[in-house]
Amino acid sequence: MTTLAESALRDVLGDGALLVGGAVRPYLRDATETRGLVGSADAVARPSSVDEVAAVVRRCYEHGIALTPFGGGTGYAGGAVPAGGVVLSLERLTRVRSLAPELWRAEVEAGVRTRDVQRLALENGLWFPPDPGAAEQSQIGGNVATNAGGPHAFKYGVTGAWVTGLEVVLPPGDVVRLGGVRKDVAGYDLLRLLVGSEGTLGVVTAVQLKLVPPPERRAVVVAFCDSVGAGADCVLAAMSSGAQPSALELLDGRAIDITRGALPVEAPAGAALAVLAEVDGSADQVAAGVEDLDEAMAACASSTHRATAPSEVAELWRWREGVGLAADAALGGKVSEDVGVPVERLAAAIELTHEIARRHGLDACAWGHAGDGNLHSTFLFDREDARARARALAAAYELFAGVVALGGTISGEHGLGQVKNGHLRDQWPAAAVALHAGVKELFDPRGLLNPGKKLA
Ligand SMILES: Cc1cc2nc3c(=O)[nH]c(=O)nc-3n(C[C@H](O)[C@H](O)[C@H](O)COP(=O)(O)OP(=O)(O)OC[C@H]3O[C@@H](n4cnc5c(N)ncnc54)[C@H](O)[C@@H]3O)c2cc1C
Repeated sequence: MTTLAESALRDVLGDGALLVGGAVRPYLRDATETRGLVGSADAVARPSSVDEVAAVVRRCYEHGIALTPFGGGTGYAGGAVPAGGVVLSLERLTRVRSLAPELWRAEVEAGVRTRDVQRLALENGLWFPPDPGAAEQSQIGGNVATNAGGPHAFKYGVTGAWVTGLEVVLPPGDVVRLGGVRKDVAGYDLLRLLVGSEGTLGVVTAVQLKLVPPPERRAVVVAFCDSVGAGADCVLAAMSSGAQPSALELLDGRAIDITRGALPVEAPAGAALAVLAEVDGSADQVAAGVEDLDEAMAACASSTHRATAPSEVAELWRWREGVGLAADAALGGKVSEDVGVPVERLAAAIELTHEIARRHGLDACAWGHAGDGNLHSTFLFDREDARARARALAAAYELFAGVVALGGTISGEHGLGQVKNGHLRDQWPAAAVALHAGVKELFDPRGLLNPGKKLA
């Protein structure tokens, strides 16, 4: 039977650009699949130009059809998991619109993969610092829509800090260009409102990016600590060491255990926390930074290790990047959050994670971007065990309340999507929650763009 979605879109897209039936299946899930989330859709639209994106949005708006923007499908909040209607995949918008290395800027379409943006910059003597962990699969449009961060956000900021302009399709199908210069305070900051809006206000079709020359060198000091408190002290010690870390990460004891096979340095048995502090810059800056960091962290650590050769640094980052997948593999199922707390409350947040896990009879680990106070508190369970999954979800909701009490946020990185719907009101005052809903209403009065997501 032909659905409304199919009949509404058939004539606005070229051959092969509208998928229906079983072909929609790969577009029904993102990285929340490990917590059991799978959506439904009548069709997938795969436009190849901004005009086609606008035509799809217009048709859906005319016919009252829900529309879910879909990037690389790596999101951890279920934002791209559709709840019926049409999935709008950006995968065919892959052109580099412009590249001006001498002016440190580029404009790329939304479907360009994050890794390709990073490569493009490096091949032209420049650097795109945002480094979210699924760069081979995620798209720059998805990074903008989630305002993705990564280890180097500590010194260089999250994706939004590198966006100078956006091309977006707004309901009911208008193509709008915002920004385009490095500094712009002319109106309300609509560009920043769209960054991190998780596909609920507009569809990003192209992104103008700022690039910079890469640092000449980098080196990492790893500190192993025998208690969570000592590890958290190490993070603070790194920050006041005199060096400016370019990244400051941590892994707790359980996260060290599940990644031990890939650990390129010797970790003392029973280590409760590992802290990775990276410095970058000129050879002299890096040498001085390593001295400062090592001296400061040695005061709280049971052992420290310096990685200065590029291959050693790369190996350490490979280990760090493997934690998420190792957590997937540990028991098959996980509920992994991205809470944020003031950096001086990190120890409390890690201890809270394990205390909640114990009460729910769950295995847990935590790792994250320590300098930003951003913690991936993760509850592990056997994927086939529905009761354990329910306990893990309950544990995550308890964690949200706990981090808000610590003065933190329920999401430092992944967004609300659908998995955190309704929890922002525990963090924000009622007046801010009302404004949040008012912004959505203004951009999308019929509520058709990614409905059921990012609800305060
Ligand atoms: C192994 C792993 C490591 C990760 N590490 C990090 C990390 O370090 N930091 C971090 O921040 N995140 C991380 N993530 C989460 C994820 O990679 C990011 O949220 C990423 O930015 C999502 O991009 P995507 O293209 O996959 O978007 P999707 O998952 O497809 O979509 C995410 C949201 O953006 C919307 N969207 C997508 N494209 C557009 C568009 N063009 N216009 C409008 N809305 C759009 C979707 O509707 C959805 O709400 C990780 C995920 C995995 C699986």
